[in-house]
Amino acid sequence: MAALVGTEDLSGYLAVISEEGGPRSLSVPLVHGVSIAHLDDRDIVHINRRGYVRTVIRNQSVSNSLFATDRCNSLCLMCSQPPRETDDRAKVAELTRIVGLMDPATKELGITGGEPTLLGEGLLEIIATCKARLPNTALHILSNGRRFWYSSYARKLAAVEHPDLMVGIPVYSDIDSLHDYVVQAKGAFDETIIGLQNLARFDVPVEIRVVIQRHTAPRLPELAEFIYRNLTFASHVAFMGLEITGFAKANLDQLWIPPEDYRVGLEAAVTRLATAGLNVSIYNHPLCSLPESLWSFSRQSISDWKNEFPPECEPCEVRPSCGGFFAWNLNHPQACKVRPVTTESLRSTAS
Ligand code: SF4
Repeated sequence: MAALVGTEDLSGYLAVISEEGGPRSLSVPLVHGVSIAHLDDRDIVHINRRGYVRTVIRNQSVSNSLFATDRCNSLCLMCSQPPRETDDRAKVAELTRIVGLMDPATKELGITGGEPTLLGEGLLEIIATCKARLPNTALHILSNGRRFWYSSYARKLAAVEHPDLMVGIPVYSDIDSLHDYVVQAKGAFDETIIGLQNLARFDVPVEIRVVIQRHTAPRLPELAEFIYRNLTFASHVAFMGLEITGFAKANLDQLWIPPEDYRVGLEAAVTRLATAGLNVSIYNHPLCSLPESLWSFSRQSISDWKNEFPPECEPCEVRPSCGGFFAWNLNHPQACKVRPVTTESLRSTAS
């Protein structure tokens, strides 16, 4: 890293950030006193007018996401990123600029929020930019799916013809009022289901995401049957553990259910969908909380902070393939009970 003396040619640079001070006479803004040890080549940072530096893309990470908006038209009981009203008028320009700066070799990129579809046509512009600038990058959009109730919007998304795009949409129950309660929005179930079917109609791949908590756990087999009968086109069905942060942390007493209380229902649901030929996965569930018959469906997250382990896991022989815990779940004793798996414990279960 070179010392700046103020005479360098900084054309093409928007700003300089430095851990120490710097010359006062630079031709671009200087932000100093900022730790930059974690930054790598081709990382992308956002600097606001007050000099606050935020890393938005880490080039070496396999789980980068564009944060589309803080706003949402739902208010899910377990939302990990509680929504708030913000002015998003500059957001599309900012995100397309970020995409333009990204390494074209990036394998995967998420688009999340808030509810990304609230950017309307702006979201389509971001996706089109991804297609143009990152043609080999798989794109995964997290959405509540309600906006795709408008078939014109689903059609426009399909018209972008992104070559590797998936929309992940939660469905929490086969009962409309229960889904609406979980997302705290009347009519959301109908909008989401029609939205899913509109996306399928226009050949946009969808993933169904089921977060398991006290309200959704009792009807997992019925939900699986509903998915099989109505949403068989889904490319992937993911059953996910509760991430104890945001609203989920605030509402934990109302939401928490120990995995042993739903393992039978989860086994029935996963088996039903898998035997029907659907691609099914389980995330954020330690292997010791699942029946062995489900271990082959358990996936490890690509994000480090979703694969943490308490010290009690030390003797466990299946740890290398275990889904582990969200980092913040380890602060909640009820959410990180473990039963280390050993050759002996497996033998005694089998006998
Ligand atoms: S004991 Fe720990 S490593 Fe082993 S299955 Fe349970 S959570 Fe995973």
